[in-house]
Order: sequence, then C-alpha cells, then structure tokens
Amino acid sequence: MSSSLSSGVVNGGISFWYADDGLPPVREPLGGNASADVVIVGGGYTGLWTAYYLKKAAPFLRITVLEQRFCGYGASGRNGGWLYNGVAGRDRYARLHGHEAATRLQRAMNDTVDEVIRSAAEEGIDADVHKGGVLEVACTPAQAARLKEFCDNESAFGEQDRELYGARETAERIRVAGAVASTWTPHGARLHPVKLVKGLAAAVERLGVTIHESTPVTEIRQGHAVTPYGTVRAPYVLRCTEGFTASLKGQRRTWLPMNSSMIATEPLTDAQWESVGWAGHQTLGDLAHAYMYAQRTADGRIALGGRGVPYRFGSRTDNDGTTRAATVEALREILVRLFPSLAGLRIEHAWSGVLGVPRDWCATVTLDRSTGLGWAGGYVGSGVATANLAARTLRDLVQQDSGQAGRTELLALPWVGHKVRRWEPEPLRWLGVQGMYAAYREADRRERTTHGVRPSRLARAADRIAGRH
Ligand SMILES: Cc1cc2nc3c(=O)[nH]c(=O)nc-3n(C[C@H](O)[C@H](O)[C@H](O)COP(=O)(O)OP(=O)(O)OC[C@H]3O[C@@H](n4cnc5c(N)ncnc54)[C@H](O)[C@@H]3O)c2cc1C
Repeated sequence: MSSSLSSGVVNGGISFWYADDGLPPVREPLGGNASADVVIVGGGYTGLWTAYYLKKAAPFLRITVLEQRFCGYGASGRNGGWLYNGVAGRDRYARLHGHEAATRLQRAMNDTVDEVIRSAAEEGIDADVHKGGVLEVACTPAQAARLKEFCDNESAFGEQDRELYGARETAERIRVAGAVASTWTPHGARLHPVKLVKGLAAAVERLGVTIHESTPVTEIRQGHAVTPYGTVRAPYVLRCTEGFTASLKGQRRTWLPMNSSMIATEPLTDAQWESVGWAGHQTLGDLAHAYMYAQRTADGRIALGGRGVPYRFGSRTDNDGTTRAATVEALREILVRLFPSLAGLRIEHAWSGVLGVPRDWCATVTLDRSTGLGWAGGYVGSGVATANLAARTLRDLVQQDSGQAGRTELLALPWVGHKVRRWEPEPLRWLGVQGMYAAYREADRRERTTHGVRPSRLARAADRIAGRH
C-alpha cells in the first residue's frame, strides 16, 4: 500500500497515523439486499459520530454504516489532528443570517471541542488528546496585519479568551524563526486521528450499529443505498462522504475534492525540543495564504501539513495517500524555514488526503424531509471538530422528522439546510483551483521578499474568483 521516495521517506500507506497504530482488520462487506431504519454512507468522523449519537438517543433504531474501504480510510484517518473550533463559512453565514446566528454557530463549535474530548473519554478512547490550544504565528509584516484582523474578527464572534502575543512572547512558547507575532486560543487540542476513528468505530459497534466495510455505494436515491453487493433500503439515507462525494452518481460537481498533504519527522531528541520550545503542545499554524498546520505528536515528532497538488483534474481522489516528491520537499522546506535548527531532521513519512470544498466554501448539514436524504460536510480544512457538531445535528434532524423529538437549538444554527450552487464543469474547475493556489503561492513569496504590510492584491483577487469571500 505504500511506496518509498528516493530519500527513504515512506510515501502513502494511507497515513503516518496508520504506520504508527496499525491498519485495522476489515469488517465483512454487505452480504446482499438488506433494510434498516437509517443507512449511513461513509465511515469517517461524520458517519460514525452520526451513528453514535443516533443510536444513543434511540437504541431501537436499526442503523447500518456502509464504508467503501475501512472506517477511517478518508481524511478522518489522515488529518493533522487539530481538534479546534474553526468552522468553514462562518463569516458568510453572518452575512446571510446575521451576526448573532453566526456567533451561536461559533459558540457551538467552541463547545464541540470539549464534547469530542468528553465523549472519547466516556468511551474509553485514548486518542493522545492534549488540550493545549491553537497557536498561529505571523512571520511577515503582511501576515502580522492579517493576524491582527483575524483576532479582531474572532473577538467580534464572542471569543473573549483569545490572546495576542508579540515576538518575545511568541518565542517563549515556540521558537519559530522570524515570528513577529502570534495569537493563541484555548479552544483547540492535539489528537491522534486514527486512534480516535478506530475507537469510535468500535464504540459504535458496541452500541449495536452494523458496519459493512469494503462496500462502495455507487448511488444514493430516496430510500436506497445501492452497492455492487446489494441495496440497503431505509427511510433515511445519510451521505457522509466528504471529499469522495464526487464519485457518487449525480454528485460530480457537488463538492470539490481538495488535496492536503502532510509529512511526519523522526522523533526529536530532548535537546532538539529544548531548542524549539513547544512545551505547551499547542497545535501550530501560520497566516500564509497557502497556510501550514502542525502538531507535536505524542511520541515526539513534528507532523506538518499544507497544500501539495491542490486538485486533480476531473475530481479524481485517491491513491492511498501517495504524495509527489516535490510536495514532500516543499513541506520539508516549510519545516526548515520555521525551525532552521532542525534542517538535518529525517522525514519519515509523507501522505495526502482529500477534503470536500463546496462552491461557496461553507460547511453544511441538511435533511431533505421530502426524500429522507441527508448529508453533512464541505468542512474545507476543519472537519475534526465540525464533523461532531454536524453529526449531532443530523441526529436532531432525523429525530425531528420521525417525530421522536422536537426542534432543538442545534437545528436553529445557520448552516442547517444551506444550499449552494455546483462547481463549474471541467476544465474550468481545474483551471480555477490551479490559478487560485498559484496566486496564493506567489502572494506568499512576495510578502516574504518585499516585507510589505498590505496583504497582497493577488491573494484577494484569488479569493474572490474562488468564491471564498
Ligand atoms: C491531510 C489532511 C489534514 C487535515 N487536517 C485537519 C485538521 O488538522 N483539523 C481539522 O479540523 N480538519 C482537518 N482535515 C479535515 C478533516 O480531516 C475532515 O474534514 C474530516 O475528517 C471529515 O470527516 P468525514 O467523515 O466527513 O470524511 P472522511 O473522513 O473523508 O470520511 C468519508 C468516508 O466515506 C467513505 N466513502 C466515500 N465514498 C464512499 C462511497 N461511495 N461508498 C462508501 N463509502 C464511501 C470514505 O472511504 C471515507 O472513509 C484534514 C484533512 C486532510 C485530508
């Protein structure tokens, strides 16, 4: 499943997290036609948390999860392990539904970080969780200007506990070369993505949910999830396929599969950690347009990610995480730019995954009451916590529709039932995304070399064309 790059880096193999924790044995595929009360397509965080909360709320429900490979095969088994309170589309939801509604969404996200930690602990899942908050650093004057704007915006959405640091205070926490400022929020934790998803699948099974793996769903339509081995009929069919959605019949242009790539280093020595700092185990990000995200793993490595090849023509998705050598090198360069003293550190593993990007970059959760078809996703790069909030919302939507419960606070959040237009057909889709990321990379380069304070016009134009703002 994995191949080696010439430098000896393990390439693909789904992700480093599986190399660390082991690939799971695969559960039995669907054995023929079947029926259920709720069928969930996709065994990532969204599908599994949905099964979890629904079954806990209504133990009598017959719930089946259908997964094309194995639970955690997608982004849920490959991500950067930032469990944090960001939600894609909040600012647009504020424009569409008012500031107060978007602030409620933000508060719900803040609570979700703790809900994931609480539920995992309740189920006995040890996912190496450390709630050290999120530290985001600025390394150029333009990034510092964006950082300030970002902090002001977060405060406006009710975040009173965010802190803003200068260069010295930043270095006291993590010694990132050239960092001029940073901001920290307590609403974030580092975790081991695979330990969480494996533990969650086991918890769901213990509750009595049926999981079939190696079972690709080819089509979803009212009352039916169709697979090569048979069809599962159910009044509710919930699509939880995120970055893979384009492979379903009729969904090619729904959410664009965007790639994100990561590297994991060899474990650092105590002396190396001494030189870097990072004693608080915060998740670490930056304010570049093509931003990076990183964590200090429980076993003392740095896992760092960013955009590699952002999008592949025709919405193609997966090859078990195989990553281009040029992307691995680009991520290594970011690591060395942040921490020059780690220039000799070996990169042990590189991998990639896909996330789902809607045309307006807004995460959504929906149940069409006329068909019983539901879905959640489009989280862009922040689904580790968001998937949990989406799952609890899907639970409430199904319970409300089936008359088991009334309207809840979660159902009043502005992302529920949001509609968005589809992506353009190819080649426009490919050209648009390539152009956007080329513009981001160029904008970052200019900001680094010119030291200007004003954010690059190029990046703002790319944002507008891409529909981000
Ligand atoms: C490299 C990378 C780093 C990331 N880092 C972070 C981070 O640090 N923090 C953060 O908040 N977010 C991060 N994300 C995003 C986050 O991981 C995702 O938003 C989240 O895991 C989505 O969960 P999901 O269950 O909706 O989708 P997935 O985990 O992708 O699960 C979908 C599942 O559906 C299955 N499936 C798809 N199609 C079918 C079908 N037709 N039939 C049956 N099964 C199907 C897939 O095999 C997969 O298991 C990252 C993503 C990537 C790729």
